[in-house]
Amino acid sequence: MSEWAPVLAAFWLFWLLDGVRLPAHAAWAFLAHRAGGAARAWFGHLHAASPSPLGWRSLVPDIPFALSPTGLANRPVGAAGRPAEAPTVAQALRWEDVKELSVVRGWLRVNGRRFCAHTPHVNLADLRQLVAMDPAARATRIEWLLQRWLRPTHLRRRRRVLLAHTRVAAACNATALALFAALTVWFAGDLAARLPAGWAERLSRTLPLWFGYLGLLHVLALFSIARLRKRHPWPGTTAKDSPLLVAALFPPQALRLRSLAFEKSQPPQHPLACALAFGRPEVVRELAFNVVADLRWPLGAGRDEPLATEIAAWHRARLAPRVEELLARHGIAVADLLAAPAPDGPASCAYCPRCRAQFVAAGGRCPHGVALAPLAPRG
Ligand SMILES: [Zn+2]
Repeated sequence: MSEWAPVLAAFWLFWLLDGVRLPAHAAWAFLAHRAGGAARAWFGHLHAASPSPLGWRSLVPDIPFALSPTGLANRPVGAAGRPAEAPTVAQALRWEDVKELSVVRGWLRVNGRRFCAHTPHVNLADLRQLVAMDPAARATRIEWLLQRWLRPTHLRRRRRVLLAHTRVAAACNATALALFAALTVWFAGDLAARLPAGWAERLSRTLPLWFGYLGLLHVLALFSIARLRKRHPWPGTTAKDSPLLVAALFPPQALRLRSLAFEKSQPPQHPLACALAFGRPEVVRELAFNVVADLRWPLGAGRDEPLATEIAAWHRARLAPRVEELLARHGIAVADLLAAPAPDGPASCAYCPRCRAQFVAAGGRCPHGVALAPLAPRG
């Protein structure tokens, strides 16, 4: 063991911890281990990064509110995550009653009251603009927003651009990671003691060169991402609080520059658009089902106050045809997604069309309050 062993151990520990993200609200993580690969996806509060510097990750929260020309409600519509992050009873406000908007620790606050998770889908300027508009202009604007959140082609194009612009950084980092691994084996395995004396001495003399090479790769990777950032600015960051500055001082973080560029410059879209853009087929199917089921059998039905119900219904009526048309364009029929499952046991006779749980008594409701439907005939 050499005096370098603790330094390298600390490096790997920071590298592992740096990959972990704990977003304030549950989100979908889309993750690929190599540039062109299809992404796997999962929903939750804890997200690990790809160990490969060639990989990328983007975190996409569900849209946690409903909008209509009348007002806004914190009832998510067309949620892709399960369990859906939704309030038991929704809050709703008319636009003319919205006096003050702010964001505090990841929460959007309306009139000083915690309203919903703050996600990149709308910022405060967008919301203030909606408050100031007349209902007709508002309707047009909301329809435009709905359209903007469902553009997988745009996401695919953006991914291509980002992959091309992060090629140098990814290659530098892959080389640097391999070098770090080799140096770790050299020091931790005390290889210098195992080799013939002449060899060990000659190799040890080249070590400063290798560290210099690592420094060079670090600078080159940072420089290429700084150039990319100039061309595609990262919303919500300034030159002073740039994550690039942190990465410059913190080499383990710099090894994930490609992933960082993806997280910071991915346009805000619906998780379903991300699944269609780069998810594996099973990911696409899972999210498509979740979104369609949430549109057909929404939570909170019968519990929310009339204003929240009306706002969510308006939003749902505009979103549902867009989702169905988008899925049809990708060869997914809603009827296939919603087809009744076969019974999972001899006594099963009904199922919940939203959560797909099966029941032995027909005619009731599942714990979410959704009316049960008959299962597909046996055979
Ligand atoms: Zn259910």
